[in-house]
Amino acid sequence: MAGRRSYRSVKTVERPSRKIVKGAVGSATRLTAVPRKKGGGAGPSTPRSVPNKASRRTGRVQKASVAGTNRVDLSAFPSEAVRKLDRSICLACVLDVFTRHMGLSLNTAHLEIKRYKPSLAELNSPAITRPYFTMQSPQDPCPYCGSPPKWHARLAIYRIEGGRTTDTLRRELVKALPTSGNQFLILEERGTRQEAFFEWLEKISKGLDLEAPQWLREVCRHYLSRKEPKEDWQAQFEQIQSIRRSRRLERGWEVGKGRLFLAPPLFDELLLVHYLVSRSQKAGGLTLEGRYTLRELMARLRSGGYLRAVGVIAQNPSDAFEELLQYLSGGEASMKLHYIVDRSDLLGKVGQLKAFKPPRPSVRGHLIS
Ligand SMILES: [Zn+2]
Repeated sequence: MAGRRSYRSVKTVERPSRKIVKGAVGSATRLTAVPRKKGGGAGPSTPRSVPNKASRRTGRVQKASVAGTNRVDLSAFPSEAVRKLDRSICLACVLDVFTRHMGLSLNTAHLEIKRYKPSLAELNSPAITRPYFTMQSPQDPCPYCGSPPKWHARLAIYRIEGGRTTDTLRRELVKALPTSGNQFLILEERGTRQEAFFEWLEKISKGLDLEAPQWLREVCRHYLSRKEPKEDWQAQFEQIQSIRRSRRLERGWEVGKGRLFLAPPLFDELLLVHYLVSRSQKAGGLTLEGRYTLRELMARLRSGGYLRAVGVIAQNPSDAFEELLQYLSGGEASMKLHYIVDRSDLLGKVGQLKAFKPPRPSVRGHLIS
């Protein structure tokens, strides 16, 4: 029920509220911080060969900052199943809260920051709040306390959709990550296919210029890459000048003379995806067949036989649309989302900052009192 409501609330491609969807499936989000030393979760139980002797400050800082330059390489993964996010955090703000408001000693505050493991709620929150901030330029001061960039750390977050095409790759990747100092935090969350679908839509929609028709082609490439990740769609699209509904194919697609022919069911799915991406821009959504309102789109998909073919029986356009979204996204079927959080920049910065006194609260009074 809540899931249905969330579909309706999705005006652009905002993902349905996690809380609502969680409620709908009746289970709390699983938030598992896998302590690497215990070898839980995806990690093997055998001891690691990585030496863990970097106990002195200098050694640790150096190792961490070296690790910080080695980004996690996701290039082997299907591009539509992974996402990278960055979060900037102001350590001066954190130290201020720990020392001034919570009364911790500076040493303890540093230790607490080192132990800090961001929760999924913090990492996924659309609203950025102190001590997190959106970095406009690496030179900018903290928007809350005015501290200079040396007090700012970045958390790199890699999110991988669980499934057949990613599970083996992900296990190998996690196994190969350095374990010293808990640089990498591994989290997982059970979600629904529907959530993952809307998050994917949100990701591909970012930065699209809906005034330039080129976006239709871009979304098409993303959708096909998601649906058939083994194909090199980037290379295919370098040859493709136009996208057509095939009169011959019953399923799948083919490329000929610079034209991509899609079987009717695939073409019709794309109409829906284009509609979802663009429907909030103007009345109706833009598709490869022009602009459709919801009613028009459903009528078109019904008359073309698509709705019947995928088992959508509702007559009312809104209900049919919801049934169709369930079908297209995978609905409430569960899936895992895996997160790799790279804390190495944070650890490196904490090490370096021990030598500095935390900045005094800004005279402009930006610090919370
Ligand atoms: Zn700050």
